[in-house]
Amino acid sequence: MKVYADNAATTRCGESALKAMLPFFREDFGNPSSLHAYGQSAATALQKARESVARSLGALPQEIYFTGSGSEADNQAIRSAAFNGAKKGKKHLITCAIEHHAVLHTLNQLAREGFEVTVLPVDEYGIVTPEQVAEAIREDTALVTIMTANNEVGTIEPISEIARVCKDKRVTFHTDAVQAIGHIPMDVKTLGADMLSLSGHKFHGPKGVGVLWARRGVPLQSLINGGAQERMRRAGTENIPGIVGLAVALEEAVAELNEVAPRLSALRDKLIRGLEPIELSRLNGHPTKRLPGNVNFCFEGIEGESLLLLLDQKGVCASSGSACTSGSLDPSHVLLALGLPHAIAHGSLRLSFSRETTEADVEHILSVVPPIVEYLRNISPVWEEITKAQA
Ligand SMILES: *Cc1c(COP(=O)(O)O)cnc(C)c1O
Repeated sequence: MKVYADNAATTRCGESALKAMLPFFREDFGNPSSLHAYGQSAATALQKARESVARSLGALPQEIYFTGSGSEADNQAIRSAAFNGAKKGKKHLITCAIEHHAVLHTLNQLAREGFEVTVLPVDEYGIVTPEQVAEAIREDTALVTIMTANNEVGTIEPISEIARVCKDKRVTFHTDAVQAIGHIPMDVKTLGADMLSLSGHKFHGPKGVGVLWARRGVPLQSLINGGAQERMRRAGTENIPGIVGLAVALEEAVAELNEVAPRLSALRDKLIRGLEPIELSRLNGHPTKRLPGNVNFCFEGIEGESLLLLLDQKGVCASSGSACTSGSLDPSHVLLALGLPHAIAHGSLRLSFSRETTEADVEHILSVVPPIVEYLRNISPVWEEITKAQA
């Protein structure tokens, strides 16, 4: 049996999204900037996709900017706010410790360029509070950027409340909503943010295409210079198949949300209840303010990497945190920010679901994880020490 439980890293492209994309590789291959029929057909598809994405988000079409990824949208949002702030002498930026590296590394770069960055700590569940944000905002704050939901531990932040604080204090607010869009209800009309990032491949759209939503009147800087695409905010011939696929996938995800989210939440809770009895295990992230499809556990005394390899042999594709940090042996910055000691943060396991996940998948996971954990502990010298210390 094969179980794909790494949907926070990427999802399978949906059939309707793929079907909608295919004509734009061959029959309708035009460049939307061309004036002839091929060009105009592509331009029409682009406009339709923009309108569709706007509808899905509760936004206006002219507030949608297509990018090459969620990472790019994060970079552009942060750099734009920093640039606009600096023009008014505001060079202070606020974020939190568990953001995606697309956010954290952009802010690190800006710190090297002379900005001051406040990184707010989170509590043991990964929550950052509106009060923390209010306290951190200064006269010279140009931007607050806090993610809607965390990609590793699934914690959902109090984003509307944080947006309200920023609005009251007239500070630009951006949210990385890459894990949230298509998974929990979101509407930019009521959200109160100024900018929001999303990525196609996290909701069964294609990879290599994202969206930066910027509320009307919020000025954007281009990261890529060249042609006049995306109203001069993002040069480069538009990825029409990708954009069309993203729009269809998003429409579908939003339409299915009320059916999929409760089903996944139930499967998530079943898996959590099934793993909790494992000795010296710990659920990472918030017990209830949590993405429907996220389960993240630490098992003391074992290495996350060995766990993943043995799970893979049993047909279970999982992750030890973020796809971007696996491959390096550093423990996840998210788990460390939650206050976990290095030794424990190494033994983490993330299982993330999608609409394709079934009850049988969860049962298979539950049948293979406990024996693998036991096996690894039996051959682990660290585990021997832990049990000795306990005795
Ligand atoms: C996946 C992800 C990103 C990056 O999106 P890409 O399209 O893969 O660049 C950014 N933020 C979060 C929270 C993510 O989960």
